Amino acid sequence: MTPVFIGSEIYRHSSYGGAHPLRVPRVSTVIDLCRALGWFDGGQYRTSPRAKPAALTMWHTPEYVAALMQAEGMAEPTPPMLQRHHLGTLSNPLFPEMFRRPATGVGGVMLAAELVQAGGVVHVPGGGTHHGLPDRANGFCYLNDCVLGMLALRHFGARRIAYVDIDAHHCDGVQHAFAGDMDTLLISVHEEGRWPFTGALDDDGGGNCFNLPVARGFADDGMHAVLERLILPRVAAFRPDAIVLQCGADAVEEDPLSRLCLSNNAHLGVVAALRDLAPRYIVLGGGGYNPWTVGRCWAAIWATLAGYEIPDRLPEGASDVLRALDWRGGGRAPPDPELLVTLRDRPRLRGVDAVLRERLDVLARR
Ligand SMILES: [Zn+2]
Repeated sequence: MTPVFIGSEIYRHSSYGGAHPLRVPRVSTVIDLCRALGWFDGGQYRTSPRAKPAALTMWHTPEYVAALMQAEGMAEPTPPMLQRHHLGTLSNPLFPEMFRRPATGVGGVMLAAELVQAGGVVHVPGGGTHHGLPDRANGFCYLNDCVLGMLALRHFGARRIAYVDIDAHHCDGVQHAFAGDMDTLLISVHEEGRWPFTGALDDDGGGNCFNLPVARGFADDGMHAVLERLILPRVAAFRPDAIVLQCGADAVEEDPLSRLCLSNNAHLGVVAALRDLAPRYIVLGGGGYNPWTVGRCWAAIWATLAGYEIPDRLPEGASDVLRALDWRGGGRAPPDPELLVTLRDRPRLRGVDAVLRERLDVLARR
């Protein structure tokens, strides 16, 4: 099966609101860049379906799904929407597509699970909402497409699933779902001391979870060490039927919500290295709040998965996509001009310090 990209136009004009980090475009940038570069050969782009409410209740509560559907289009949440389901908060505001957009993310990841049932590779940059909880919204996430996608993989015949998460934030919702499930391997690399403050080094989730908090300044050589000493040996030894990689782009240096210093080469290295370790491979998006770096990162991921060569310098049509972006308010600095004419970052190397080595030793001894 040729690699498949699952996208949707629902993301193009959707915003969580003018003061929210998710006011910026992300998936539409990836689609536009890939189109400009000729990276959707016949049949590779698929439009994401929207998941039905009954599918969402495979993990979310019926009350929560009903509240989420009802809240879409409302100006103010009812008290139970706000207090029980955390809908209408600063991080999870009411906005015009607040049900249809996350349900489209879930539909895309569930379609991916179906498409790879006989083996294959699918990229769903609109997926990766790893904080969603069964009965409430959490951390910009309304539904948990990672969890529902993994349940769909099971439904379509995969038993052992490795979930790897390189977003700057810990995947608390996914761990909530699969902690203690020895048919699931969960590995998360995330910035220490950052929301949601879960995923400590000694939190093994009952045995199947490997959490690695990393310090500010974590860069490409740090990720390379993590890949070689934690991710690859654990995933290979687990012999998964399927791998789900959450590729949040908020660990890239220019992101405004973290203090990690990766270049997108770190993401591409993880994407490529995991590819041959299972017959089914689904690569999701996740966080990412700098409109230039998130679009560049996920477009480069698609090129890596689908075998397109990333040019050193972008053709004008692709650069035009990046030049048309802005922060949509907020007074942040414009991007380094190099970000407008390239997809691949320059590598960022900061050395591998003793603290990271020690943490990798601790996890290797488990
Ligand atoms: Zn994140």
